[in-house]
Amino acid sequence: MENLLTLKHLNKSYQIGTEQLQVLFDINLEVHAGDFIALLGPSGSGKSTLMNIIGCMDTADSGEYFLHDKAIHLADDTQMTKIRNQEIGFIFQKYQLISQYTVLQNVIMPLLIRGIPRKEAVKLAAEKLEMLGMADRLNHKPNELSGGQQQRVSIARALVGQPSILLADEPTGALDSKTGEEVLNLFQELNDMGNSIIMITHDPKVGQKAKRIVKIIDGRLYLE
Ligand code: ADP
Ligand code: MG
Repeated sequence: MENLLTLKHLNKSYQIGTEQLQVLFDINLEVHAGDFIALLGPSGSGKSTLMNIIGCMDTADSGEYFLHDKAIHLADDTQMTKIRNQEIGFIFQKYQLISQYTVLQNVIMPLLIRGIPRKEAVKLAAEKLEMLGMADRLNHKPNELSGGQQQRVSIARALVGQPSILLADEPTGALDSKTGEEVLNLFQELNDMGNSIIMITHDPKVGQKAKRIVKIIDGRLYLE
């Protein structure tokens, strides 16, 4: 399988006052195109920190990160912003939709940032929203939707730019168990369609839905 991303010997610390707190230790991971990985670990184990690094929102202190064959650890801020917009689709526990915007306006945003003309952006966004069962909610505001519907909108926003990888941080964490199950089934369908996914969770039951579980404990990865 095609290698999508490779992490080699990543370390990450946060500076708190005069103290250095190391939160990731010698992280090594290979992700292939078509993978569906659950990154499973307890609260405070470093999951979000690692997702932020993979998502080009933060950088490691040392080590190497290759996405396709781009050396992300050598990229500057401008390159990181571009990679984040073009290569990564983010899905968050609390959806992080813009509350003043309609569903459609939220989903076209990543395309407008890329410079895609509005008309084309609207067409692509409407297609994704239709695929996710949200075609009749295009002009609603997020607070007029259920949690499950808001998460579908955020999934549409993550998918609309055809990113290389979807990164989902506790995507079912704010949902009731039935709606959470529906969202997980949706991830499985998206993976079957060829989307590569890394899903973060503290819940082993949620992790079971993935093809592969990678455990993280106290900032260290354990591959199964
Ligand atoms: P998880 O997502 O697994 O709950 P995080 O990656 O959010 O874990 O956090 C890992 C550790 O790093 C925790 O001890 C947390 O307190 C610490 N941490 C996270 N972000 C920061 C930050 N911006 N500054 C200082 N410490 C942080
Ligand atoms: Mg977290």
